[in-house]
Amino acid sequence: MSEERKPIYLCLAHMSEEGIEQKYVKEAFDTNWVVPMGPNVNGFEKDLERFVNDRGEMINDRETTDNVVVCLSAGTAAVHLALIGCGVQAGDEVLVQSFTFCASSHPITYLGAKPVFVGSERETWNMDPVLLEKAIIDRKAQTGKYPKAIIPVALYGMPYRIDEIMAIADKYGIPVIEDAAEGMGSRFDGQVLGTFGKYGVLSFNGNKMITTSGGGALICQNKEDANEVMWYATQARDAYPYYEHTAIGYNYRMSNVCAGIGRGQMTVLDEHIAHHKHVQDLYRELLKNVKGVTLHEQPADTRYDSNFWLCAATLDPEVKVVGQENAYKEVIQSAVGGAAGVIKQVISATTDCQPNENVEALRMFMLEKKVECRPLWKPMHKQPVYANAPVYTNGVEEELFKVGFCLPAGPYVTDEDVHYIVECIQEALKSFES
Ligand SMILES: *Cc1c(COP(=O)(O)O)cnc(C)c1O
Repeated sequence: MSEERKPIYLCLAHMSEEGIEQKYVKEAFDTNWVVPMGPNVNGFEKDLERFVNDRGEMINDRETTDNVVVCLSAGTAAVHLALIGCGVQAGDEVLVQSFTFCASSHPITYLGAKPVFVGSERETWNMDPVLLEKAIIDRKAQTGKYPKAIIPVALYGMPYRIDEIMAIADKYGIPVIEDAAEGMGSRFDGQVLGTFGKYGVLSFNGNKMITTSGGGALICQNKEDANEVMWYATQARDAYPYYEHTAIGYNYRMSNVCAGIGRGQMTVLDEHIAHHKHVQDLYRELLKNVKGVTLHEQPADTRYDSNFWLCAATLDPEVKVVGQENAYKEVIQSAVGGAAGVIKQVISATTDCQPNENVEALRMFMLEKKVECRPLWKPMHKQPVYANAPVYTNGVEEELFKVGFCLPAGPYVTDEDVHYIVECIQEALKSFES
């Protein structure tokens, strides 16, 4: 039966039923706005502003914000420009969550600045406020300077402890860049992630909550900050009849064609978020009785409202998985999940920090069943490229990386798929349960 199955991927791009994306893209062609500006870019920014400034029904007595959104070519570009907006320069230090995808920290190095990694706490898997303050105090003692910015990350969509992080950031006068690339539409106390800090990062890559094929946006607190970001995103040109530059700029603005896709996607954003939450609910119900597997849930505190972009879980190290004896025996020929671009070939099948053998065996077992089951993101402070970066951790993220895995959760994942996925997991653990 599994031969006829279509593969189930982690999270695939999913267009509106009515093809609204194509209508906006066609409009871009028909009006010859095939450039990195135009009506779709403006329209998409307005749609995004409406979305991020909405505080939900429960608390509509509260003051609404007027955050301004700038559309960019990628979420990574948004992180880069946010750092510039925080005044980060060569030699400066930036505090960033270690448990994340590399796009949170790499732009720090683009500026010649230095990432200082902060560990996670067990509940949200995100930046531990206690470690954050410890890091701030210790960096000041070590270098004589405070770090220039703080980057918490909504890993798999889960809100970070933003109230505590903002309180610490304000205490030391350090701006916060929220990496909400995976957490689009996640909320804390009714407020959309990305609107708390000085800047908020969104991503519209092909696998995110909504897509523009590739793209991103920076949420700013006001028009002045947004104007500065826009200036840097369009090669930092001064107002003369010829090109005059007083700063180094970037070519980071979003294409009007891509923004057309984004405008269409905004019509399905709420549906997508609701579907991700529904899939999480179903996993919860079905995994309840699977011994050895624990679903990653949000804190009981009702202010936390995750979009559950990916469903993550952990596997008890004692559990034996079918085929475990073959884990890590072969060098992988492509990136897990089939990433785009070129993957550098390696000679060893193992590194000194990797998921447990039973987790790798589960990944292989699920692949055989045509289900994508991916390891958690490897903490940045364990990446060879960041071997010399300072880190403040209790070891939580490294421990989670060894026992954790992600399960499919996108709009294409049906209830039947979730039943099938959980049945496959049960089959993989069979010898353990009996
Ligand atoms: C996807 C992602 C980004 C931005 O990625 P782009 O692919 O450049 O849009 C940033 N941070 C995290 C944590 C991400 O997952």
